[in-house]
Amino acid sequence: MIDSLRELGYLISAFLFILGIKYMGNPVTSIRGNIISAAGMFIAIISTFLQGKANFNNLWFIILAILSGSFVGTYLARVVKFTEMPQMVSFFNGMGGLTIVLISIIEFLHRKTVDKIFTISAGFSGIIGAISFVGSMLAMAKLWGILEKSYRSNFIRVFNSILLILIVLFFGILIFEGSYGWLILVIILGGILGFSGVFPIGGADMPVIIALLNAFTGLAASIAGFAINNNAMIVSGTLVGASGTILTILMAKAMNRSVLGVILGGFGGVDTTSQTQKGNIQEITVQDAAILLSYSRKVIIVPGYGMAVSGAQNEVHELEELLEKKGVEVKYAIHPVAGRMPGHMNVLLAEAKVDYSKLYEMEYINPEFKNTDVVLVVGANDIVNPAAKNNPNSPLYGMPILEVDQAQNIIFMKRSLRPGFAGVENELFFNPKTRMLFGDAKETLKKLINEIKNI
Ligand code: NDP
Repeated sequence: MIDSLRELGYLISAFLFILGIKYMGNPVTSIRGNIISAAGMFIAIISTFLQGKANFNNLWFIILAILSGSFVGTYLARVVKFTEMPQMVSFFNGMGGLTIVLISIIEFLHRKTVDKIFTISAGFSGIIGAISFVGSMLAMAKLWGILEKSYRSNFIRVFNSILLILIVLFFGILIFEGSYGWLILVIILGGILGFSGVFPIGGADMPVIIALLNAFTGLAASIAGFAINNNAMIVSGTLVGASGTILTILMAKAMNRSVLGVILGGFGGVDTTSQTQKGNIQEITVQDAAILLSYSRKVIIVPGYGMAVSGAQNEVHELEELLEKKGVEVKYAIHPVAGRMPGHMNVLLAEAKVDYSKLYEMEYINPEFKNTDVVLVVGANDIVNPAAKNNPNSPLYGMPILEVDQAQNIIFMKRSLRPGFAGVENELFFNPKTRMLFGDAKETLKKLINEIKNI
């Protein structure tokens, strides 16, 4: 009876996870989706307690762990700044990986006999979990700017390939021998691969690897669920693994990368120094920018990471409405890796209540730049950097960009001439059509809005 109740609980939670994901697909219903998924997880946890007393040796430790985890999670979610969200997502993903590693080790230790199926699932989930844990921690450090971005070398490529072969070999021995020592060895090697796989990656490859690590954690969780016979873990892990895989493929396609190439370190270079022909930059005053924008027919706004840093999305929306009242056509150009997490700009602009129909993806907006009077680049850099097209040594090389140089005028809103995430200088700053409007995006937009109101 109690077993049937538990399985029913898992079934309900699986249903709620799927429903939650469906609602999260739209910014309007995403909060509902989040609450439904959280309810699904709550039911899954309660159902796990329906095991019978004999299976709980450390009930109070378990309750203490759940309470302290809930407290830390709630606290972090409340205090985290929106700009640090990508780091937090990487951290949570890494914790998922670590949990799977611990489950596979502890289950292996506790079993009196281990059959081949169990050994395969424990070993596989342990390796993938270790890659995901170490890789996510490193990705978090890179997003925080603690580590330098891109270290490409043939040595790392060869090292990773050898490591991969060794892992496959030792995993084979683990299946054959079924001993604890081999399990620990493959898990350690998995952790090293997580480090050496993510360490060289930067620039345009970063979003692909972050989505891939997410898929890995899901995959590891579903295989661990299989090992310990937990249906909720199998379903939720499969959902995360599948959605992460789809996102990885979409990101890799959008970035013109192959997933295997990114893992083995096959793209981009390390040339993050100045490689452009410098010219003179031209600045524009807020007053002149206001006049230029007000008398335009068509304006395209390109939001980037700097908009997130300065929290300027509401001002961007206000500017858009103001210009539209003056008869200017305004559209937004959304690059797939703008910001620091997939969908970053969409989330911010939805929060500011920007009409979703005004957001255009790269392939739809690129042909429109040539008929555009002004492109307003708000805190974006790498996603419009022509080095992605014409510098094979650049870590951005190969990534499709928003072709803003086709427009009649380009206004760059940023604080300095500093490069973006990939550390690559942007030759567009020196383009004769470009005007730099230096300052914090939010502050500058406020001034711009005031000026336009007076025109
Ligand atoms: P970038 O990081 O290329 O550029 C952001 C620019 O914003 C900087 O050059 C900075 O210049 C400016 N900026 C920072 N703060 C402010 C502020 N307060 N006001 C105005 N400007 C500001 O961002 P993009 O969005 O163009 O490109 C995203 C990059 O992040 C890509 O390289 C992508 O590969 C990478 N990435 C994306 C992920 C994703 O999933 N979307 C995940 C991981 C990495 P200044 O300092 O002069 O102000």
